[in-house]
Amino acid sequence: MNPSSDHDGTGPADVRDLLDTLVARGLAGTAPTRAEAVAVLRTGDDDLLDVVAAAGRVRRHRFGRRVRLNYLVNLKSGLCPEDCTYCSQRLGSTAQVLKYSWLSTEDAVAAARAGVDGGARRVCLVASGRGPSDRDVVRVSAMVDGIKREHPDVEVCACLGLLRDGQAERLAAAGADAYNHNLNTSEATYADICTTHEYADRVQTVARAKGAGLSPCSGLIAGMGESDQDLVDVAFALRDLGADSVPVNFLVPFDGTPLAGTWDLTPQQCLRILAMVRFVCPTAELRLAAGREVHLRSLQPLALEMVSSIFLGDYLTSEGQAARADLDMLADGGFEVEGARGAAGARVTPGDRSEVRAPSGVPSSEPGVTVRRRGPGTAVAPNA
Ligand code: SF4
Repeated sequence: MNPSSDHDGTGPADVRDLLDTLVARGLAGTAPTRAEAVAVLRTGDDDLLDVVAAAGRVRRHRFGRRVRLNYLVNLKSGLCPEDCTYCSQRLGSTAQVLKYSWLSTEDAVAAARAGVDGGARRVCLVASGRGPSDRDVVRVSAMVDGIKREHPDVEVCACLGLLRDGQAERLAAAGADAYNHNLNTSEATYADICTTHEYADRVQTVARAKGAGLSPCSGLIAGMGESDQDLVDVAFALRDLGADSVPVNFLVPFDGTPLAGTWDLTPQQCLRILAMVRFVCPTAELRLAAGREVHLRSLQPLALEMVSSIFLGDYLTSEGQAARADLDMLADGGFEVEGARGAAGARVTPGDRSEVRAPSGVPSSEPGVTVRRRGPGTAVAPNA
């Protein structure tokens, strides 16, 4: 099935039929067929706005014009023993990213505070590594407790790698609300992007988090050389796992990693990928994640019509656009920031924030990618 009106000469009515079907399924909370999901990825540029509008109807049905802001705190950066090819912190990476061991509890709480003050409703505590030791779980539990004491209405998500028996329960008991562990790609191609652990390990960790009562957050990375079928497979796997939040990342191909120079995505294809995931996971909080600035570029506002969640500020090892620019983009689109500073559904006003922080880091050899040199692990103020 290929409904494209400009790939094979089939008529635009086929695309409209497809989109009508997908909207009906999405509003009912049911999934498209795999063939329909693949067909979304193969629509033509002439149909792009129709695809975005259809996925936008599904988004607005459950999320209105609300956008949740999430804030990343990189607790421990670089020097990972795992070999995920896409990751600047991997074994053997020569990417010039920040490398530091665990932040103190005080510094982690301060970093979270910056994000919350900037409007974040969820703080994501992330550490590099295969998985936490029991001592690490104790350490992160103290951070969760510290953040919750200051911001009881803010959700805390932990992202510490593969979990062993009992660790998810201990994080939940400490007050964590969610656990993130991405599937990243399809089961069929997982061995192409990592050899030090398996797809099944990742599935098991998401299941452990869910079993402990933590909200499961799990997503994907597009642009690693995968096929359309792989993207559809991982989207369905995330649906089957019951992921409440689904971050969609677009590969940031750091110099010094095996995928350096891999720029396979176009802004249009990024939008089709988001639409496909929106249709497959119609009730999930779909999050526009790393790589949005460099891959979507001027089309970012169209993505907001389909997703209900973004990261504010910087990513783990690369810099995001200025937080003020994000808030202005949301205001320009008429979106409402969910629960910002306790004011549920606060509409953003352009220019609300007085400070614009320019990029501070080291430009990579690729335009638009700047290695993070501010925020956690540095003495420089964060982008929040
Ligand atoms: S994705 Fe996580 S486990 Fe894989 S190399 Fe990066 S930090 Fe390590």
